[in-house]
Amino acid sequence: MTDNVEVLIIGGGVGGLTLAQWLTGLGRSWRIVEREAYLGGPLAHSQYVLKWIPGWPAVSGRDYMAAILAGIDTAHCELSGELTQIEMDEIDQGWRCQLSNGRAMRAKKLVFACGAAPVSPFAPAERVIVGPGLQKIAHLQTGHRVLVLGGGDNAAEHALILQEMGCSVVMLVRSALRASAVLAQQLRAAQIDLRVHGDALPLNVSASGVELFGESYDYAAVYYGYQPSTAATVFPLLYGPDQRISRDVFILGDMSGPSYPNILLTQGQAAVVAKQIDHALSGD
Ligand SMILES: Cc1cc2nc3c(=O)[nH]c(=O)nc-3n(C[C@H](O)[C@H](O)[C@H](O)COP(=O)(O)OP(=O)(O)OC[C@H]3O[C@@H](n4cnc5c(N)ncnc54)[C@H](O)[C@@H]3O)c2cc1C
Repeated sequence: MTDNVEVLIIGGGVGGLTLAQWLTGLGRSWRIVEREAYLGGPLAHSQYVLKWIPGWPAVSGRDYMAAILAGIDTAHCELSGELTQIEMDEIDQGWRCQLSNGRAMRAKKLVFACGAAPVSPFAPAERVIVGPGLQKIAHLQTGHRVLVLGGGDNAAEHALILQEMGCSVVMLVRSALRASAVLAQQLRAAQIDLRVHGDALPLNVSASGVELFGESYDYAAVYYGYQPSTAATVFPLLYGPDQRISRDVFILGDMSGPSYPNILLTQGQAAVVAKQIDHALSGD
């Protein structure tokens, strides 16, 4: 059986869920297909207090997502699923979509809101932690030697958190610290051991830790930023000969590669996309 919806949203994080709320308000039908078994994306389990959200002075990612989710009809969300196949529906002027959980969907518009993933130049390993997340460092203990790689805000914040947890932290930046002035000041006050490494980084990873420049650490924690998801590029059908995405397909949030990824930008984009879709469907 094929479900018919006006909008199929791929990705149930901040952008996908905000878009769903807007579409509901505009009286449009939608489904979300989310790869994980839960909605909300990486913020759903984040205990960090969020920044850059005026009006929400001390809310954690988890609580912010819970507030958004309270306005969502989760019966319209397919969890633990991904898009596996797309075909153009010439008669209905839409897309026939196959999901990995066996469901089939027909949608007039597709929206990709798959976010971004933290990047690391190192092979995945138990002793190499990649990207921010308190849950990723929760198992570290007092006395652990941790090599923090990266010079941005995430690296600085995690160096401070790890030191507070009682770890012995060495922070390694390629050329200069890029973290905000506030965090740079906190690093100085906390007397974090900050070193510059240049381009070559011959990290030696073993089952019991990492070694670099003759020094041993229990863990390396890598904060080298994010790479926008490429989930749409695996479907060449979505792109025209000029490599531009079809006018029936939208990309929003971190996946659109903003120079300054954040929640408000994503939610603003979701509002704009919702209005564009509503407008287009009214004229369809
Ligand atoms: C730990 C952390 C702290 C942050 N703190 C702040 C902050 O304080 N203030 C701020 O403004 N911003 C913050 N950000 C950034 C902010 O969370 C992002 O800009 C925002 O979540 C982007 O929303 P999104 O919908 O594009 O992506 P996400 O929220 O990442 O959602 C993407 C969703 O798509 C799903 N997905 C991925 N691939 C597929 C696929 N192939 N098929 C189906 N589903 C898929 C993912 O599982 C996820 O649920 C933080 C981010 C993190 C990770």
